[in-house]
Order: sequence, then structure tokens, then C-alpha cells
Amino acid sequence: MSSLLFATPKELTGWLAKLASGYRVLAPRQEGPSVVYRPQTAEQLASADIDALLRRATASPKQAMLPQCETLVTFKSVKDAEDPSKLTTTLENPCQAEPTVLFGCRPCDARGFVVLDRPYLEGKFKDPYYGARREATVIVTQACPSAFASCFCNWVGSHPSDKEGSDILFTAVEGGFVLEVVTDKGQALVEGAGFADAADKVADVEAAHAAAAASLAPAPELTHVMEKVASRFTDTEFWEKETVKCLSCGACTYLCPTCQCFTITDEGSQLDGRRLRSWDSCMTPLFTLETSGHNPRPSKADRMRNRVSHKFSFYPERYDGFFSCVGCGRCVVSCPVSLDIRHMVKAAVEGSSLTFDDAAPAESPAVEAVPAPEAPAVAEPAPEAVAEPEQAAAPKAQKPAPKAAPRASSKSKAKKR
Ligand code: SF4
Ligand code: SF4
Repeated sequence: MSSLLFATPKELTGWLAKLASGYRVLAPRQEGPSVVYRPQTAEQLASADIDALLRRATASPKQAMLPQCETLVTFKSVKDAEDPSKLTTTLENPCQAEPTVLFGCRPCDARGFVVLDRPYLEGKFKDPYYGARREATVIVTQACPSAFASCFCNWVGSHPSDKEGSDILFTAVEGGFVLEVVTDKGQALVEGAGFADAADKVADVEAAHAAAAASLAPAPELTHVMEKVASRFTDTEFWEKETVKCLSCGACTYLCPTCQCFTITDEGSQLDGRRLRSWDSCMTPLFTLETSGHNPRPSKADRMRNRVSHKFSFYPERYDGFFSCVGCGRCVVSCPVSLDIRHMVKAAVEGSSLTFDDAAPAESPAVEAVPAPEAPAVAEPAPEAVAEPEQAAAPKAQKPAPKAAPRASSKSKAKKR
């Protein structure tokens, strides 16, 4: 299912404005020093500067499926008039999964939802809140015109025009954008949009994708990264050295598109209240503190080991070698003391004493080097440059654009995942 359509910048914003009558349209917006995803009205979208809509968001779009704080259930109890010791309690689930278009994701962000899908939607227990929003959301992703200095999607088997997780992938080409429909949901969204066929722009799109892939720094040798990171589990000295500057602020996890932990709290009175779910962070000292007073991860080194190992060892061990880091680089950019997960992974791998036979075990996933961008079914000119500090100038509108080692016994509280 791969049709290619062409839209000028005006046609694209006009389409989004029309969609806003039936969908909540989330798109990037500058707020102070940050770019954040916000619902935008038809009027705002109709008059939007396309460049503003194409800026990479400071925080990931995971809040579209996992709000920073949400009410899971409200409760109200009424005392029996005859026997006040008896209560009649009513529960209500206020979850509303309104039809949503998530516009302007980057490929790493869209891939992030694939990472979240596994723990939230697979297995015996499925999360109905996440699932309802996921089902109701159409993801329209922008192929990156060029990489930021902090990007490393090529370390984790992805690339700047990766379609994984997207319903539509659009690429900037001369004079506008080529939209590649990836899923049925994407197809339904473009029905009646009136976009022109773009079958003749395949070469332009391929050129744009190749240029973006070439703008990434080459990935290091990461063969057996899963086993090698896992082998560092007992190397306390390594993690202490890597973590000495960490402030335990949690910024790296809150901004990450794949960090998925939450905590649950109740508020209200005995008779009336609600249960809330809020983002939590494994980088904070209280995260694993048990009611007994014991804390299985009391030090910064313990917590960083858990975070990095979850991304590059525990998660891929559990889910067929798929890394739970998508290489977006937000943790790299936003860490107040400039800790860099790339450095930690590279150091863990390069200093590993593990050796492997040429015939690696089947369960041991090898990281693929930057895959050459798959020939998409679309075409070319790039929209206005996204004026982000580290990103190479994007083409202007109307212009062409170019199984593993021992696993940590990390006991998790029932309320957290
Ligand atoms: S953002 Fe940096 S300082 Fe804050 S918890 Fe993460 S690694 Fe530590
Ligand atoms: S760990 Fe860092 S680079 Fe990896 S997905 Fe999370 S924020 Fe992005």
C-alpha cells in the first residue's frame, strides 16, 4: 500500500486545517525556548508558517498516547441512609481517546511508539488507555531533511526516512512535499484531499533521503552490544565513572520518546476522588525505594546502569533484538551536565572483555549499520529550513533538498513498568 502524493506547503496546511474539524491535530509549536506538540485549531493551521510546523520538538510526542498525568478512574461513594456503614461506590473511567492526527513527528519519534507498543499492548495485560489513544491516532511523519549533531538513529537500525511506526511519511522536495501513504489509516486521512499524484518524483525523494542519511555521522562498531552492555552489570566502577556528574534530575527520561515508567497516586477523600497516573523516572532516587526502606538502586551508578541497560540490553533481550533507544538524541541535548548515552554505550562495548565466535548465537542481535534509505515511493523539494541550532540547513520551500548476558534482577514495583 504505498501511494505517493504531492502537496505544496499551502495545500499541506490547508489539508491540516480541514482535518482539524474532525480531529484533534497535534503539531509542533514554539513556546518560549521550547518546541512542543500542542492541539492547533483550523484557523491556526490555515495560516501556519510551514517551517514552524516542521521544527523538531524539544520533548517527544509520547504524550499523545501517554499524557504526563491522566485520571485513570474517578470514584464516588454514597452512604446508605439507613445504615451509614454501607457505601455504594460508583466508578467512572474518564479516558477519552479522541480522533487525533499527530503531525510532524520525526522518524525516530514514530519508531518510539513501536517501542512503547510492546509493553503496553502485547502480552497478557494490555493498557486500555494507551491502546485507545494509539488506535485513534494517525501519525504523519516528516522525513528528516538532515541530521542534528545529536542524532544517532543509525546506531539502532533506523535512518532519517524510516517508516516504522508512521501512517504517512512526507518528504520535502522542490516546491513542496511528497506524501507516502504507509498504512490504511494513512490512506483514509488523505482520501479526498485532492493532492496530485507524485509517482514522477520518486527520484527526488530518493535523493532527499540519501542526502539525509549521508548527513549522519557513521555508527561505531556495535556488534553484540546487547551482550556487552549486559556484561557490565557488575562493573560498578564503570558506571560510577560514567555517572559522576549526574544530577538525578530525570530530564533524560521525561524527554525520551521511549521511557515508559509511571506511578499511580490517589487523591480526594474516602467518599470522592480519583486515581492518577503520572510519568515517573528511573533516574530519581525514590523510584525504587520500597516501603521497607530498602532501595535496590540507591546510587546514581545503579540507576544509570538500569537506564542504559534497559535501552540496549534488557529490552532487546525481551523483544527480539529491537532496541528501546531510537537515537533521537534528546537526552544528549537536554542533560544539564552534558552526559551522553552514546559515550556510555560505546565505552561499554569498546572496553568489554567478552569475545564471540564468528558464528554468533541466534538470539544475539547485531546492530545494523546505517541502512541505505529504502527507495520510497515519493518525490522531492524541501520545505523551509528548520532553523534548529544543530541541524544542517534544510531545503527551503520551493527549493530542492537535497540473548544475552546475565540480566539484572531489577525488581519493579507493581505500579511501575
Ligand atoms: S538528564 Fe543528565 S543529569 Fe539529569 S538524570 Fe539524566 S543523565 Fe542525570
Ligand atoms: S535514550 Fe536518549 S537518544 Fe535514546 S530514545 Fe531516549 S532520549 Fe532518545
